[in-house]
Amino acid sequence: MTRSLKLDLTRRQALTGLLVATALPAWAQTIPSNPDVAIVGAGAAGLSAARSLIDRGLSVVVLEARNRIGGRAWTDTSTFGVPFDHGCSWLHSANRNPFKPMADDWGYSTLYHDDAEELVYVGDRPATTAEESAYERSWNALNAAVSSAGRRGRDVSAALVSPRDMPWAHVSEALFGPMDMGVDMEDLSTADWWNMEFTTPNYLIREGFGTLVAQFGREIPVKLGTPVERIRWGDKDVALETSDGTIRARACIITASTGILGAGTIAFEPHLPVWKQEAIAHVPMGLLAKIPLQFKGSGLDLPANAWLSYYTEQREACYFLCRPFGFDLMIGFVGGSFAWELSGEGTATAVDFALGELRKVLGSNIERQFVKGALTDWANDPWSLGAYSAAMPEHAVARAKLAQNIDDKLFFAGEACAGGFATTCGGAFINGQSTARHVARVLS
Ligand SMILES: Cc1cc2nc3c(=O)[nH]c(=O)nc-3n(C[C@H](O)[C@H](O)[C@H](O)COP(=O)(O)OP(=O)(O)OC[C@H]3O[C@@H](n4cnc5c(N)ncnc54)[C@H](O)[C@@H]3O)c2cc1C
Repeated sequence: MTRSLKLDLTRRQALTGLLVATALPAWAQTIPSNPDVAIVGAGAAGLSAARSLIDRGLSVVVLEARNRIGGRAWTDTSTFGVPFDHGCSWLHSANRNPFKPMADDWGYSTLYHDDAEELVYVGDRPATTAEESAYERSWNALNAAVSSAGRRGRDVSAALVSPRDMPWAHVSEALFGPMDMGVDMEDLSTADWWNMEFTTPNYLIREGFGTLVAQFGREIPVKLGTPVERIRWGDKDVALETSDGTIRARACIITASTGILGAGTIAFEPHLPVWKQEAIAHVPMGLLAKIPLQFKGSGLDLPANAWLSYYTEQREACYFLCRPFGFDLMIGFVGGSFAWELSGEGTATAVDFALGELRKVLGSNIERQFVKGALTDWANDPWSLGAYSAAMPEHAVARAKLAQNIDDKLFFAGEACAGGFATTCGGAFINGQSTARHVARVLS
């Protein structure tokens, strides 16, 4: 989420809304058992890699643990009756993001969001001009300090360089680390942050980012509900053992998150080399959790698509995207260590917390209009185990190793391997394509 970062960086769907992953054409359901390439995961990276390989005439099987495609791109229309993205929602770097032309060509409704208003509160009143200026100064100082370290190639914890003595520093830090990068400032690598290239313009998609990714992937041959349990790569071919038998391929592209790779959900035989295991350990998953709250009718009298933040000196902060597209939702965001803790406590606690924060700002009247809330549970999702990757301080270089293939047989792709577009869905897509080109060259 958030306001502006480096280079004004922000992290910041119903004609197609009914297209679902299971709507595969008949041909796509005929899945070869000995393809040229087996792909683990049908998120943006796996789907784009598959499309590229098929377009090059190679046979492909995508093995997906879940019963849907899209991975961390997932639009849920049933909980609130309107599209809600559990995962990605902003098209970052829209000028270079392959999903933007798709959205335009397919008639999606996108909203330019860089000029969104930010409503800033102190207690239950709007911040004064002087307070807003103090907030701006603290944001600029923080941005300058982390940029300066990153530009000079210093790979340290962002907390070490953050100007913490300034008023509003807590607010700026909460947005900068936890709510944008999914990690506390202590766990944010200045170099990893600096290496991120995604920037403005940023767009929201009314029908949902997940809907768009699912539409892209609907003709790709995916075996759903098929977790890969073990990958044997010591022989000429790669053998992928699944709950539904073994697939043999000439090469394999693994797009599972670093959370999954680090947890050992997939066994490798032989073990992955130590350098690869270290790279995985050094780029763990951060966490951004969304707490959507639904209010009756027009509910809260707040401008659609605005941000709402408030002064706090606590780590426990939840900032909101107000009424996206005029939907009767307030989307709360929490990140970093607090998001892990809250996710551990479950949906009811998280919803109570977010509603309580909103009550402090907008008053107790909001309770009467409150309908229900939810929590996106990427922390406990067994096929993600976090939201997106964050290299540890002193280990920004690990991303390059993460992306390296092993023996021209095991290839790694996905957001964590996407260089300057790491953490993003567009980055995962581009990285899937480039990995597929590499695989095609090797196999030819
Ligand atoms: C809360 C949140 C907010 C976000 N906001 C944005 C945003 O606004 N903009 C943006 O661009 N990005 C955002 N992102 C990040 C974006 O969603 C991801 O970077 C992107 O979707 C990752 O794609 P991927 O293909 O690399 O991985 P995934 O989507 O995780 O795909 C990997 C697939 O592998 C499958 N898998 C895992 N293990 C196995 C196994 N053993 N066998 C078979 N299949 C397996 C998984 O089920 C999954 O489908 C956000 C993410 C989250 C969680």
